[in-house]
Amino acid sequence: MTELTPLTAESLFAGAGETLALMRELDWSQTKLGPVADWPVDLVAAVRTVLPSQVPMLLWWGPDLVQLYNDAYSACLGDKHPAAVGQPAAECWREAWDELGPMAASVLGGCGSTYAENMFLLMDRAGYVEETYWTFSYSPVTDQTGEVRGIFVATSDVTAQFVGEKRLATLRALGSVSTSQSGTVIDSCAAAMRVLARNRGSLPFAAVFIPDEDDLQLRLAGSYGLAADTAVAGTRVVKIDDRSAIGRVALSGDSEMIADLAEWLPSGGVELGPLGPKLPHQALVVPLWVSGQSKPAGVLALGLNPYRAVDEVYRTFLYLVARQLSVLVADARAYESERKRAEGLAELDQDKTHFYQNVSHEFRTPLTLIQGPLHDLLADEGLQLPDGHRDGIEAAHRATLQLRRLVDTLLEFARAEAGQLEAVREPTDIAQLTAELVGMFSSAVESLGLDLDVDIPPLPEPVDVDREMWAKIVMNLLSNAVKFTHQGSITVRMRALDEHVELVVADSGQGIPAAQLPLIFDRFHRVPSQLRRGGDGAGIGLSLVADLLAANGGTVSADSTLGLGSTFTVVLPRTPGRSADHPVRPLEAPGDEVTAITADSLSLGRPEGPPAVPTAPDRGGHVLLVEDNEDMRRYLARLLVEDGWAVTAAGDVDEALATAQAPDLVISDVMLPGRSGLDLVRLLRANPELSRIPVILLTARAGPGPVVEGLDAGADDYVTKPFQSEELLARVRTHFELSQLREFALKQAENQVAHLHVALGSNRQIGAAIGILMAEHKITDEQAFDMLRTASQHTHRKLRDIADDVLLTGAIPD
Ligand code: ADP
Repeated sequence: MTELTPLTAESLFAGAGETLALMRELDWSQTKLGPVADWPVDLVAAVRTVLPSQVPMLLWWGPDLVQLYNDAYSACLGDKHPAAVGQPAAECWREAWDELGPMAASVLGGCGSTYAENMFLLMDRAGYVEETYWTFSYSPVTDQTGEVRGIFVATSDVTAQFVGEKRLATLRALGSVSTSQSGTVIDSCAAAMRVLARNRGSLPFAAVFIPDEDDLQLRLAGSYGLAADTAVAGTRVVKIDDRSAIGRVALSGDSEMIADLAEWLPSGGVELGPLGPKLPHQALVVPLWVSGQSKPAGVLALGLNPYRAVDEVYRTFLYLVARQLSVLVADARAYESERKRAEGLAELDQDKTHFYQNVSHEFRTPLTLIQGPLHDLLADEGLQLPDGHRDGIEAAHRATLQLRRLVDTLLEFARAEAGQLEAVREPTDIAQLTAELVGMFSSAVESLGLDLDVDIPPLPEPVDVDREMWAKIVMNLLSNAVKFTHQGSITVRMRALDEHVELVVADSGQGIPAAQLPLIFDRFHRVPSQLRRGGDGAGIGLSLVADLLAANGGTVSADSTLGLGSTFTVVLPRTPGRSADHPVRPLEAPGDEVTAITADSLSLGRPEGPPAVPTAPDRGGHVLLVEDNEDMRRYLARLLVEDGWAVTAAGDVDEALATAQAPDLVISDVMLPGRSGLDLVRLLRANPELSRIPVILLTARAGPGPVVEGLDAGADDYVTKPFQSEELLARVRTHFELSQLREFALKQAENQVAHLHVALGSNRQIGAAIGILMAEHKITDEQAFDMLRTASQHTHRKLRDIADDVLLTGAIPD
């Protein structure tokens, strides 16, 4: 290419712009490129490509890579411009030439273009060595022969973008530190420090301090970038006063910039950052504010990047970090206090449970002391209580029984709360057991004019269940059904499902409003404004049912329609029958002689000790049981046999009288087909042989009438259905023991009389006296003997009365 006129700087660098003006004025003959007029055409062509571009562009020419660049590029150079014009690249980029030099050399050497993205370079372009990031390409400029003569550098300074993105990532990560994972304030601070430590470029070190409860000092809650064992103030605890920056910020709540860490940190206290050999020498100390608090919730010290000027953007970032950390601390504080509250509540709950346990124990004793004398009063045949008084005492007696039941439930419930409910599960014919339990309710239900609809077919195999608990579950559901049903029927159904046994107790009662339904299993919850039969409940029955079921691996649910009734469904797992090491005991087939039930058969009672079998009857007593309801009869027989009694059971009075053996005690239902239980009492009392046998009557809860009549007729005691098994057994035991003692005392008395006979007969003085009597009053032998007999009979009666008195006042005769 031939120029008509020699090329001048004026013409080559013509145009507007500061860089062009500089290049026009430069004396190029003083540079390695020489005067512009001598420049090769390839250089001129390259210059004409670079200069007009709006994209930052740099041209390196010749082996020394002398620089020419456009206006857009001069901004990237900072204070290296304008000296960089015409300067060799190695000189201009001194601090980064270790990285850049080899790349340039490879392009010059003909290896083709190179490309770098976000390349980190420490660059001194703003009066200090700065962290910078670049994305650029080097491409070769060749001459006509194809030789590489220079390099085009197309470049972008991505420092602001790159640093900004990293900071954003830090803030984002800080925002996602989850308080619920870390839990405490200390944990949250430590987690936050781990996040910040991932951006040690912008944040070479950090330390966070949290005030102690007394607000007198701060404690290090987390840090990084500080030499081991060296907190910012050289210690892990900082007093809140104005002697240290941390303490001052905690006191004043104003942030503070530490311009010279050397004064503040022991030497070697800070670790080197990742960017270069310069130690951080500045820190910003900021208070952490939690809204609604008048004092800082903590103090954060942030080390500053020594390779970045502390400009507005950097400062904003630092304050955003502090703000995020404040939020975290506030969250953690709220979380901590919430947890403390929950722990406090749990403790309170435990205290409450202990309280229930103690209280119910404490209640039992006075209740027993009230119940006993009331019972004795009612049972005392000789006592002629005016009718009005008797009614009152009976009501009081019933109330103590109800209270006792409530207290027992409460105790059971407290045990459940304390986690002391331990089920002793045994293979059980649950269908039969349930039928027996339901049987106990039949007369009560019927006497209230309700229908009892029972469908409990036999189940294919026994089910593992704690029998005593199961009894409580069934009794609770049934007594609720009775309580809340005023007309219609109560239905009890049981069936085997694939893996479960299902028991349904349904009633046609008043039902439960839908909104209340989810609450009824909560303890102490009672549906408001319901009509209930009998005394008020405590609202713990269903909660106990749920607990008892849980202890047996079962569940309970409820369904109800207001005004139409409620259905409670219990589901219990069907466990497969046990193998030889735990054989399932055979159950008596219905219709067997009840006396044939041995203690081996299943019972309601929980065996003590190993879950083995109670042995043969050991009380030595024989009970005659008269009950027409077959389920009830079987249930009671079972209960008594388990308690060690020999039992003869009968369905009516005639059958009972036909039994050969005279029993030690009689339990009889009042309502029987044909002759009633009261008739039986009268018959027994009329027979001198049987008159002393204790009789306990079973009555439906139908008012005092039959009770009074029964006691009048000479019954010793009565038990109202439904009753608790323990209650009945306790009474049986007491009356049996009383009668045994009475018999014993009578025998003793008779013996003493017999001894008296002998004594009288053999006593010479008496003999002499009788002789005198006989002589003086002309008494015959026969008359004398008669006198003696009368005297002995009198003594006998006297002794008997004394024996009874002694027994009734509780003292046992020597
Ligand atoms: P309570 O001792 O009060 O009967 P429960 O825990 O047994 O306590 O029952 C809780 C509440 O659920 C009862 O107070 C009653 O409001 C309601 N409830 C339970 N069973 C029935 C039912 N069969 N019909 C209607 N409401 C019922």
